[in-house]
Amino acid sequence: MRGINLGRLLLALALLGGLLVFLYSQTRPLVTDPDAVLLLNRGFWFAGLLCAFVGLALAWSPEPEHNFDQGMAESAELRQQRQYLQAVLDGSPAGIVLVADDGRVLLHNVRMQALFALSEDELHAGTLTHLLRQYQFVELWKKAAHTGATQTTIAEVPQSKRMLRGVVQPLGDELRGHSLIAFEDVTELHRLETVRKDFVSNVSHELRTPLTSLRLLTESLRGGAMAEPATATRFLTLMETEVDALTSLVSELLELARTESKDVQLQLAPTDPCAMLQAAAGRLRMQAERAGVLLAVECPAGLPAALADPPRIEQVLVNLIHNAIKFTPRGGRITATASSRTGVIEFAVQDTGVGIAVEDQARIFERFYKTDPARNRTGTGLGLAISRHVVEAHGGHIGVTSQEGKGSRFFFTLSASGASEQ
Ligand code: ADP
Repeated sequence: MRGINLGRLLLALALLGGLLVFLYSQTRPLVTDPDAVLLLNRGFWFAGLLCAFVGLALAWSPEPEHNFDQGMAESAELRQQRQYLQAVLDGSPAGIVLVADDGRVLLHNVRMQALFALSEDELHAGTLTHLLRQYQFVELWKKAAHTGATQTTIAEVPQSKRMLRGVVQPLGDELRGHSLIAFEDVTELHRLETVRKDFVSNVSHELRTPLTSLRLLTESLRGGAMAEPATATRFLTLMETEVDALTSLVSELLELARTESKDVQLQLAPTDPCAMLQAAAGRLRMQAERAGVLLAVECPAGLPAALADPPRIEQVLVNLIHNAIKFTPRGGRITATASSRTGVIEFAVQDTGVGIAVEDQARIFERFYKTDPARNRTGTGLGLAISRHVVEAHGGHIGVTSQEGKGSRFFFTLSASGASEQ
């Protein structure tokens, strides 16, 4: 489509005006003869018209890219495309940056702000070193720019406490020297990987101790202890203890795997809280007597029923009472209680034992966690982790209050039967 190019039109008009003025100024004062004046005036007009014609012909351009209206339409289209591009970038779960060879940031998306915990100023500072607060990523960009090859690394950003995987991709011929950098948040993956490694190392450690003892005991028996019946009997008893420890570790691991798997089905039924307390305490009464501690159950009459899977809740109570016996010196007292408040039944096991330091209280429900003085005692460190899973699967909460040297109180809650329908 044809159209008038404003720039050329103005140029032509300027040329015409300039020429007219020039001719006029040159001819007017010199010529006095009226015929000559007429002739000059005609020439003057002819030249003016020629000039205007050439100007207009130039201005009436056939090239669409030089068309003024079309130029406006194109810049609106470009603006819209830029908006689309920004929307795609901002909708991406990854942080994205386009960098020039001198480190200027040409494009970035909003995700960068959360991943690097950036202020508005830092986000728009315009240079890569301001945007990436982690020197390892800046080095990665330099290496990619230098080698022309894609580079990848994982590093933690201390300010945001996020673990990020950065990939720097140098761009091809069209944008030579430029790089595209993408950041993926791998914090959760990294945490799971750490949990898995810890789990494997904890299980190996727990298995190694009894297995080493068994190995030493069998070697001693072979080395001559078998000939002394009293020693042999003692060694066999020790071997039984180690085998028991292995058996309980394996069954606790299986129990943990079962409670941690989401598809565990609870058989919930309205259950008498006092009956569950009595059943659990009954199983450990002899053990408490042997340890020289008093085990009492205090359960008020008329408590509402708790919504529970009874064998599982009994196992939680057994874990808590068993720990109380282990960590309470002779002459101590253990009290197992149940009480109710609106819609909730609370169970508690209180002891007068060694207590737990404040910094350990938050961690003892983790798998394999044992407090330092307890390190050499028997136990896998799995009991409370299993208990927490069971209680949480019931929709309850488990916790502890404790004072070192004075004792501990472990408690957990369950819904009272019918509470949800009220
Ligand atoms: P385990 O008893 O098999 O070691 P648990 O998960 O049951 O494993 O307990 C984790 C840790 O919590 C114990 O090793 C001990 O350090 C601490 N703990 C648990 N119960 C008590 C308690 N009643 N008094 C003092 N410390 C306790």
